[in-house]
Amino acid sequence: MNWFERMDLAKFLCCVVLLRGISSVESRYMVYNTSHTMVPGKLNVHVVPHSHDDVGWLKTVDQYYVGSNNSIQVACVQNVLDSIVPALLADKNRKFIYVEQAFFQRWWREQSEEIKRIVKDLIRSGQLELINGGMCMHDEAAPHYIDMIDQTTLGHRFIIREFNVTPRIGWQIDPFGHSAVQAYLLGAEVGFDSVFFGRIDYQDREKRKKEKSLEVIWRGSKSLGSSSQIFAGAFPKNYEPPPGGFYYEITDDSPVVQDDPDLFDYNVQERVNAFVAAALDQANITRTDHIMFTMGTDFRYQYAHTWFRQMDKLLHYVNLDGRINALYSTPSIYTDAKHAANKAWPLKTEDYFPYADRINAYWTGYFTSRPALKRYVRVMSAYYLAARQLEFFKGRSEKGPNTDSLADALAIAQHHDAVSGTSKQHVANDYAKRLAIGYVETESVVATAFAHLTKVDPALNPTFQQCLLLNISYCPSSEINLSEGKSLIVLAYNPLGWKRVDIVRLPVVGGDIAVHDSEGNEVESQLVPFTDEYAALRNYHVEAYLGHTPTQVPKYWLVFSVSVPPLGFTTYTISTAKKTGGYSSKSYVSRYQKGEQSIIDVGHGHMKLSFSTDQGTAINYLNSRTSMTEPVKQTFSYYSAYNGTNDKEPQNSGAYVFRPNGTFLIKPEGQVPLTVIRGPLVDEVHQRINPWISQVTRVYKGKEHVEVEFIVGSIPIDDGIGKDVVTQISSSLESNKTFYTDSSGRDYIKRIRDYRSDWKLEVNQPIAGNYYPINHGIYLEDSNKEFSVMVDRAFGGSSLVDGQVELMLHRRLLLDDSRGVAEALNETVCVQDKCTGLTIQGKYYYRIDPYGEGAKWRRTFGQEIYSPLLLAFAQQDDGKPMSFGAASFSGFDSSYSLPDNVALLTLQELDDGNVLLRLAHLYEVGEDKELSGMASVELKKLFPGKKIAKVTEMSLSANQERSEMEKKRLVWKVEGEGSDEAKKAKRGRDIDPRKLEMELYPMEIRTVLIRLEHPPSHTHKYRFDA
Ligand SMILES: [Zn+2]
Repeated sequence: MNWFERMDLAKFLCCVVLLRGISSVESRYMVYNTSHTMVPGKLNVHVVPHSHDDVGWLKTVDQYYVGSNNSIQVACVQNVLDSIVPALLADKNRKFIYVEQAFFQRWWREQSEEIKRIVKDLIRSGQLELINGGMCMHDEAAPHYIDMIDQTTLGHRFIIREFNVTPRIGWQIDPFGHSAVQAYLLGAEVGFDSVFFGRIDYQDREKRKKEKSLEVIWRGSKSLGSSSQIFAGAFPKNYEPPPGGFYYEITDDSPVVQDDPDLFDYNVQERVNAFVAAALDQANITRTDHIMFTMGTDFRYQYAHTWFRQMDKLLHYVNLDGRINALYSTPSIYTDAKHAANKAWPLKTEDYFPYADRINAYWTGYFTSRPALKRYVRVMSAYYLAARQLEFFKGRSEKGPNTDSLADALAIAQHHDAVSGTSKQHVANDYAKRLAIGYVETESVVATAFAHLTKVDPALNPTFQQCLLLNISYCPSSEINLSEGKSLIVLAYNPLGWKRVDIVRLPVVGGDIAVHDSEGNEVESQLVPFTDEYAALRNYHVEAYLGHTPTQVPKYWLVFSVSVPPLGFTTYTISTAKKTGGYSSKSYVSRYQKGEQSIIDVGHGHMKLSFSTDQGTAINYLNSRTSMTEPVKQTFSYYSAYNGTNDKEPQNSGAYVFRPNGTFLIKPEGQVPLTVIRGPLVDEVHQRINPWISQVTRVYKGKEHVEVEFIVGSIPIDDGIGKDVVTQISSSLESNKTFYTDSSGRDYIKRIRDYRSDWKLEVNQPIAGNYYPINHGIYLEDSNKEFSVMVDRAFGGSSLVDGQVELMLHRRLLLDDSRGVAEALNETVCVQDKCTGLTIQGKYYYRIDPYGEGAKWRRTFGQEIYSPLLLAFAQQDDGKPMSFGAASFSGFDSSYSLPDNVALLTLQELDDGNVLLRLAHLYEVGEDKELSGMASVELKKLFPGKKIAKVTEMSLSANQERSEMEKKRLVWKVEGEGSDEAKKAKRGRDIDPRKLEMELYPMEIRTVLIRLEHPPSHTHKYRFDA
């Protein structure tokens, strides 16, 4: 075959033109027609240019922004934003969406007034659209819903302030599975018209492609139902361009559209055919005449012209071809087209967890990956919530210190490679560093607020110290020598809207001490010996983090009970017993060797636990008040990590993927004595399982749950095998394959082992495929009982055996799982050059209730776990008068507290002087006989001494009035449902400006902006009790 025979007609014609071109120099300037809009009756391809810019992953957020550290990844977000502006100006038909506000705001601050004006015009004209609009594209498994709301609010408020725009579209294209809370709360309740995403289970996706049900109406909340539903679209493959080679970054190797016949390799028809083929393929699995091409992927458009040049040509030639209609579009235009089609859509309820991208690749490891970072984020989240309340009481300082830097750090930490635990180690360190910097500034806000609220005598000037390192049993403020004529003042602040009776635990150095309340009454207290496990944890980590070994080891934990008003504090004095009388009870310590005594009882009041000394795993649980008795067994196991390096289809266990290769029960090693510590406030059973696992089981006076504190690490890897360490808590409940886990800390979703409600599950990973994210808790039930386990951070967990709850506590892995991070999840802590595997200390809590009565504890205690007491310490010389003008305080009106079913999510003074208030109903419909009812809050009582001038109900992210949002809301039809068939959920009535009462129905969160007559920074009239 000669060269001529191989040429098709098109090429022949080009050849002729080429020969002509050599003889005469002609202008080849082409005007591409990109002005196409939608054409009815034709297949419309919405070409959506976008860049997915991770707010930290392989590089830190700042490195990605400025484009440094390019040996890891060639990525510079500054280039993206810089080059988008001229690219959009060059053709008014071109469009672009931008998502991550953490980057956009960095860029915006650096722009000239001229560029800002241009960008505002581009946004106004719709060429540039800001969507999603949070600081980052948050993960949906590990973040708590309060953090999701806060980070979205931060982005949305900036966008409304600068551009007067409210983002319409949820764009969660990369997170690894999708939560129900994302759909209804961070979707419908922030006023989004739709949400799009790229990652759903591969089996689910195949079925949905066949049924054309990738696009659905998603009702995430059982309680709110159709009142907070959203149009949701899963992409057919991922968030990249369609198959057929349409990547146009400078370094991408897709074929460009070569349409100059004077040059070689003219390929217009071939490229048009590939585009049309991709469109027809996608149309086959999509309803209506509209499909979306996501034109972009990670860190693309760094030189935007390379993309737009090709897309201009594709649009031009595809439309000349005429088989389909292609247009520059955005997800908003696409959503409107779907809505205008006036079709009924399939209904989707619950969530899209867990996610597997192919066989044996369940992304359920990241539910636990980096458990220390997950805990740090949770601790900071609660601290931020409390600090904003205190900042409001004190009056916000624009110049600082204020809580803004912590807000920013926390927002970034919600990114789907941050709290998820899927970034490189140096990036995880960067997230932690940002949180630490934000904390330090916020700590001084809190200290100043306490000084202000306690009306401290400025001459005495005691500063309020706080103890962030209590997790490693380190608190210099409480470890002072009291025998030298000093007393320690402990201030306990309660960020909850209810009165709270809780336990404080502090390390102390001396034994002869007593605790008194602010009226001088002795408070019952107990000294618990400081055991070796805690001393070792403390010494190593103080040296690792602070660079010195503490000079002394505390002798005891001082334990005492405190009672604190809502949104308020009380103060207690700790001093030597000699001076003040009274004393702290020493605990009774007993050790039991194996076989010595068969049963050991601990507990207070109604609660009793009976341990068998035979390895201490069998416990009988008894609550005499509720007549609940239950044999509980608690064990540790590990999963060895799968090494698939040499498999035909390699898939290791890694930071994302959990792929176990065998379960191994961790048997207590050697003679394990049980150490039992008893006293008037707490009984503890200490168990050392092996050299790297120990735990303490606690029962407190007045509490009807069991607290388990575990220390796991360093996980041994000298056998060359990575490990996932889990604990199993087993009961006799006949749970019939069923368990319930929370969605982002809010609604509970029913899970059935080896089952998915949306498709017939093909089980290939019976362990990993049954794992779910747990932010709040997990519970089982049978006809008599509920067995609930609550957690202190996000973990992965499951119920793999009836009656049993399993939590994955820690992971240490030696291989990468080929999802891009290219690092093994092997966290270490180093002292000088010596590094050991990271140790995790944490808590979970369990309780058994009569059937139908467990929600009360889960909801109320869940709030206490999320928002612990905030402690602050000051020293005072004995004999001197009390330096505080006010020893206790409540931010609410005297004796007012929120209803038992309502939580305060946000109380914050905004930079414009308005007060942002969010209240949440904590129960779902039918969850509790009484507490699932309507609640009513008297707003006046939340602001004593102030006059509420105006209350404006807002969308969840406080960027528009709720009434405006409701007016704009698109109404969608659901298959098989008449228009009035969807039962409207009950919602609280509009707030009457005279009565100022806010009603809340199950799962409702209401957000209001409040204008107070006097700005909060001026006068304060709170209830102070000296
Ligand atoms: Zn991403």
